Amino acid sequence: MNINKERRVKMSNRETKTDVILIGAGIMSATLGTLLKELVPNWKIKVFEKLTNAGGESSNEWNNAGTGHAALCELNYTVENPDGLIDISKAIKINEQFQVSMQFWSYLVNNKLIQNPQDFIMPLPHMSLVQGEQNVSFLKKRFEALSKNPLFQGMEFSDDPEKLMEWIPLIMQDRTSNEPIAATKIDSGTDINFGALSRMLFDHLETKNVDLHYNHSVTDMKRTSDGLWELKVRNSGSGTVECHNAKFVFIGGGGGSLHLLQKSGIPEGKHMGGFPVSGLFMVCNNPDVVEQHHAKVYGKAKVGAPPMSVPHLDTRFIDNKKSLLFGPFAGFTPKFLKNGSMFDLITSVKPDNLVTMLAAGAKNMSLTKYLIQQVMLSKEQRMEELREFIPNAKSEDWDLVVAGQRVQVIKDTEAGKGTLQFGTEVVSAADGSIAALLGASPGASTAVHVMLEVLEKCFPEHINEWETKMKEMIPSYGISLMDNRELLNEIHTSTAKTLGLAEKEPELVFS
Ligand SMILES: Cc1cc2nc3c(=O)[nH]c(=O)nc-3n(C[C@H](O)[C@H](O)[C@H](O)COP(=O)(O)OP(=O)(O)OC[C@H]3O[C@@H](n4cnc5c(N)ncnc54)[C@H](O)[C@@H]3O)c2cc1C
Repeated sequence: MNINKERRVKMSNRETKTDVILIGAGIMSATLGTLLKELVPNWKIKVFEKLTNAGGESSNEWNNAGTGHAALCELNYTVENPDGLIDISKAIKINEQFQVSMQFWSYLVNNKLIQNPQDFIMPLPHMSLVQGEQNVSFLKKRFEALSKNPLFQGMEFSDDPEKLMEWIPLIMQDRTSNEPIAATKIDSGTDINFGALSRMLFDHLETKNVDLHYNHSVTDMKRTSDGLWELKVRNSGSGTVECHNAKFVFIGGGGGSLHLLQKSGIPEGKHMGGFPVSGLFMVCNNPDVVEQHHAKVYGKAKVGAPPMSVPHLDTRFIDNKKSLLFGPFAGFTPKFLKNGSMFDLITSVKPDNLVTMLAAGAKNMSLTKYLIQQVMLSKEQRMEELREFIPNAKSEDWDLVVAGQRVQVIKDTEAGKGTLQFGTEVVSAADGSIAALLGASPGASTAVHVMLEVLEKCFPEHINEWETKMKEMIPSYGISLMDNRELLNEIHTSTAKTLGLAEKEPELVFS
């Protein structure tokens, strides 16, 4: 059989046309699909996911830390200016974005579009913990700046070892160091299972006639003469290749998004690259240890460490079980997805981004060295880092788990060519027919805000007619909560009630 003939046999005759195609079944596509179904129920939506289920990559519960990022504990969202003042503008921005997610999830629960919020969100105090005089002084100033702001109401500060023993006994007991130590605590934090939430949202979308295709990999795309996007999709079950056309495409492929954006050929996707940073956590399932901790406790990143490797010790609630997670330890592999290929990094280098990538490589030698050192750490060396949090941690209680990949965006900015970005980036075509999400921080917690940005960029002509519905789903839509204390209090109370976040110790099973 000649090769051309064989190719023809494998090419399916299937060709379809739809309004929207979402690539990838992670939290981002799940959120965008759910928003669109509420705004324009009659639009036809198809989803293509290369894995067998939704939420299998970064959104999976074991592939991320499950922190509801609201800037309640992450020290890297508040920087100290040279004049000694603490800049809290980033913390405010992230907190406001998180409130948008909380409102949308509450809308979904109130309208019975999803059920049992405790299956994806749990109340959990968020704490920041530092040691050493300088760090304690920073934390105190940070607390003073944040606690005046209504978004951070309820935050407490203590440098009293007895109080800290009450808050974090596992961390404080057997601590021999005489260094000053201090923490802040806020009870309105959360632990979120983004894998469960993604699956809930896709289950809901299925009931709304969204076509979900698992085991389907998008391998190529091009613009057709009639202005549609034509996607080549490989069905790994049947081995066939299908063609699907859509008026609008969202590239929600997580780490896989950069390659797909490059295939689209849109000029907005040129001169951009990606740098993969992998993550490892240590997990403890020993109930005697797990029971002694009930918080997410964020420390300070080590000098030279990227912001996403701030160490933290977290209580996690996964499948009605409580465990402890410590990490992340950063690492390096050239894969862009956990289930990706060793050639991902090299094949992402194209003539248009070669200079950008080379510049980034030259600028980030120390980061690369740091990541390689992290990969080489032995379990005992990782235990030593853990013992900075839990002085008497025992090796036999802790196992290593490999988390997801984060592909950091590299682009040319005012700071120079090949600058590494640590945020998220919506890249869309000028005509709004296609958009991609790159980057991974603050990530899943702000999915609703980021997907609203996609809608605003790609469907400006619909935004006015959608406004009433937007406000029904997200009462603070278009409003700064910080400047509207009454609405903020109302939202805090109603979302906490709907999502079951009034602080209580849940009944859980230990594994
Ligand atoms: C170690 C780590 C810790 C993190 N901690 C937190 C945290 O505490 N809080 C937080 O809010 N965020 C956190 N994040 C970030 C968060 O996990 C991500 O921002 C979020 O999950 C990204 O969702 P997504 O839908 O864009 O991507 P993903 O969940 O990765 O989904 C993308 C999907 O696209 C599919 N796909 C890719 N290419 C193709 C293709 N060609 N065809 C078809 N399908 C394709 C993939 O299989 C995958 O299922 C963390 C991430 C990591 C890695």
